[in-house]
Amino acid sequence: KGISSSNKVERKSDILETPIVLEGEVVKGFGRGSKEIGCPTANFSQDIVENKLPATLDAGIYLGWAKLDGESDRVEKAVVSIGWNPFYKNTKKSVETHILKMYDTDFYGRWMKLKICGYIRPELNFDGLDALITAIQEDVEHAKQQLDQSKFLEMKEDECF
Ligand code: ADP
Ligand code: MG
Repeated sequence: KGISSSNKVERKSDILETPIVLEGEVVKGFGRGSKEIGCPTANFSQDIVENKLPATLDAGIYLGWAKLDGESDRVEKAVVSIGWNPFYKNTKKSVETHILKMYDTDFYGRWMKLKICGYIRPELNFDGLDALITAIQEDVEHAKQQLDQSKFLEMKEDECF
């Protein structure tokens, strides 16, 4: 039923006609990202998901730019998961951002700005945790490479940051 490790996942880097800018406090999610999957995701509140995210946006994996509010923080590459995480059968839609940078500590409560710029793939179900982890690692690598394209680098220079 789900995607297994041997299935090939097709990935794109379709630029969004209208990039989506969201900002808000980083809140606690389900606590699965870092512990189970090895990929921490900074979650936005339910209020932002329900009231600021265009409801028409397809669930899936996106790429973009993110910035925390701190003085020494810069605009960083980001991979964003939008949807219900079918593997975990969530009932509430979530917007989760993995920033492609190592942080020494958690940053719950900090203000984060996010510009969603491109679409990578639809939300998929996986037949096991290994397949899910592999797919996420490949999403991160894909986003890291694709964000170096000038069409995406240009989108990093935005007054919203
Ligand atoms: P939760 O379910 O509470 O979101 P996660 O396991 O997904 O828990 O971890 C997310 C938290 O990890 C973020 O809220 C943030 O404080 C921290 N974190 C550390 N490094 C990163 C990173 N590179 N990208 C996103 N979050 C990170
Ligand atoms: Mg998370």
